[in-house]
Amino acid sequence: MSDLAMRTVGFVGTGVMGAAMAGHLMDAGFKLRVHNRTRSKAEPLIARGAQWCDSPGEAATGADAVITMVGFPSDVEEVYLEPGGIVECAAPGALLIDMTTSSPALAVRVAAAGAARGVAVLDAPVSGGDVGARDATLTIMAGGDEDAFKRARPLFEAMGRTIAFHGGPGAGQHCKMANQIAIAASMFGMAECLAYAQATGLDRARVIETLSGGSAQSWSLHNYGPRVLNGDFAPGFFVKHFVKDLRIALDEARAAGLRLPGLELAELLYAELLAGGGGELGTQAIWLLYADAAEREAAGVTASV
Ligand code: NAP
Repeated sequence: MSDLAMRTVGFVGTGVMGAAMAGHLMDAGFKLRVHNRTRSKAEPLIARGAQWCDSPGEAATGADAVITMVGFPSDVEEVYLEPGGIVECAAPGALLIDMTTSSPALAVRVAAAGAARGVAVLDAPVSGGDVGARDATLTIMAGGDEDAFKRARPLFEAMGRTIAFHGGPGAGQHCKMANQIAIAASMFGMAECLAYAQATGLDRARVIETLSGGSAQSWSLHNYGPRVLNGDFAPGFFVKHFVKDLRIALDEARAAGLRLPGLELAELLYAELLAGGGGELGTQAIWLLYADAAEREAAGVTASV
């Protein structure tokens, strides 16, 4: 048992990812104080004994650690930095961990605000998707104070498998941006591979199976290809969140003096999908840009390549 076992964790953001992650913390013996904008999404955790809190600040009050898994940088800013928010309400010595995919620059600001109040803040975004959250096999990429990272390990181990420290505040978010840059190309690669297979009369399921054993194999093709073939465009990972990530990555690349044309293309395609009504779908919906009109219409998307 860890030194944090049976101690209290505030958890804010119980959506697709957070609900599963919080559940694993309960399985590992942590007591949960939970808040989500929409209470109904926290009900299964409350039914298991988590304590409902009316605000992020209330979830942080008296907690030994606070974990956030909200949507956008604006949400991170709100839950941590607003008056009555997590930084203000956290107990001295508490450990704050933002696992949202957010901006590295904001992670630096939140860490500085925490330091001014004597609380350590880690940025620790994840990769592995809804499946990784459900199976507690997430990859966790952390930045911040290294001693705080060591203290956080028992929490991370309840939710993830690959757990890595990358440096000071914002380094976890930079690693996650590197992750998203790699995924961006594999997502439109998956869609274009399936479009080509279909246009040339191949059995797409057989193509996925064959390619998965060779050098074209990728997480995107293996996990999302079958969802596409089943007409399953549910999130998973929301298109609106991926567009957010691609734009953060583009901004950070530009700030580093880098031009990444592949990333620019991915942002262009996903922005079209978002504008064409696909924001609430999963990222595998990139396929719909290549699909026929009937399939697009059935999924409620108007954009195409
Ligand atoms: P999600 O289902 O939208 O979950 C986010 C949750 O945070 C929602 O339930 C939302 O409340 C809540 N929330 C947002 N702002 C809040 C606020 N100010 N106060 C209280 N609660 C707030 O999204 P998700 O798929 O779990 O993703 C969460 C984060 O992880 C995103 O940054 C995403 O980019 C990242 N991520 C996702 C995946 C994936 O595969 N899904 C993988 C890796 C990383 P409502 O219920 O009211 O909307």
